[in-house]
Amino acid sequence: MILIDEEKIFEIINRRKPLSVAINGPEALFPKIQDTAKKIMKIFAIPAYVIGDPCWGSCDLNTHAADVLGVDLLFNVAHTISFETLGTKVVMINAYDDITFTKIVTKFATEINNKHIKSIGLVTDSQHLTQIEPVKKLFEKFGFKVIIGKAKGQLNQGQVFGCEFYPAYDIQKQIDAYVFLGQSMFHSISIAMSTEKLTFMLDPYLNEYKEINEYAIKFEKKAVLSIYKAQEAEKIGIIIGLKEGQFAKAKALKLKKILEELGKEIQLFAITEITEERLRNFKDIDAYIQVACPRIATDNHFTKPVLSVPQAEALIKILKHQPIENFLQIRHWL
Ligand code: SF4
Repeated sequence: MILIDEEKIFEIINRRKPLSVAINGPEALFPKIQDTAKKIMKIFAIPAYVIGDPCWGSCDLNTHAADVLGVDLLFNVAHTISFETLGTKVVMINAYDDITFTKIVTKFATEINNKHIKSIGLVTDSQHLTQIEPVKKLFEKFGFKVIIGKAKGQLNQGQVFGCEFYPAYDIQKQIDAYVFLGQSMFHSISIAMSTEKLTFMLDPYLNEYKEINEYAIKFEKKAVLSIYKAQEAEKIGIIIGLKEGQFAKAKALKLKKILEELGKEIQLFAITEITEERLRNFKDIDAYIQVACPRIATDNHFTKPVLSVPQAEALIKILKHQPIENFLQIRHWL
């Protein structure tokens, strides 16, 4: 069960005495966020707004909504990062899953022992960060060498985002395989894609583990196919995402300049939610490059090719007749 750190919310409200607050977080947690908002209103007798827009990460804070609502504090739930606050209004609130990995680690360690995996890199997402140390000790009892990558930037030790992998990427030469703790194909696929190393996902809910690399290969093939399709495009739309943590106007203008020099006609767009439906409204565009969340391009289905930043950089290499190998094997897909 995921538990929102309400104690911290209450302590901050007591200390900062806001006149009103807002809370946002992942859609899956909306029912719990509603409960928290109700408690705030009851205990502190102040308005607590639940922001009902999608919130995908610490890159998607929606402080605009907080400003429009005129609240003093915005609690962003379940996107643990190495900072506690962002700006004057945003406070990051942990929401950890209390499930343990004892059963699935025991099963994995027992069954995998004959597969020549001696050293493993432990990685996880925000919800299971508290499990990293106990799982490390458990694996060590089974005789494995366990490496946890160091914290860097917004990432805590052992943590990955869907587009940022420093703690995983930096230890790849020291390990035989990655073990991702949690039920997230989204995160585990990107570890396998960015390192091309053997990667397992340990799912504590279903008590099963999965080797992820064949899924990662499918994703990578799809990403490469889109690049080659975009090669033929004469008119390219470059989309700037309007979410504050994904805003990359300078990158968009840089790509525009390079692609125009390579003979492409460019139109600029700015969109908050980049979806197939939104793109269908535009005319005369053969392919798109979006400089917001890279996973929009790699994980979703679009009728026309839609590229992320690393894919766009690979496209430029193709147009310059340069090789593109390893274009996704980088620490950060932005
Ligand atoms: S993968 Fe997308 S949503 Fe997740 S942190 Fe990166 S930009 Fe944000």
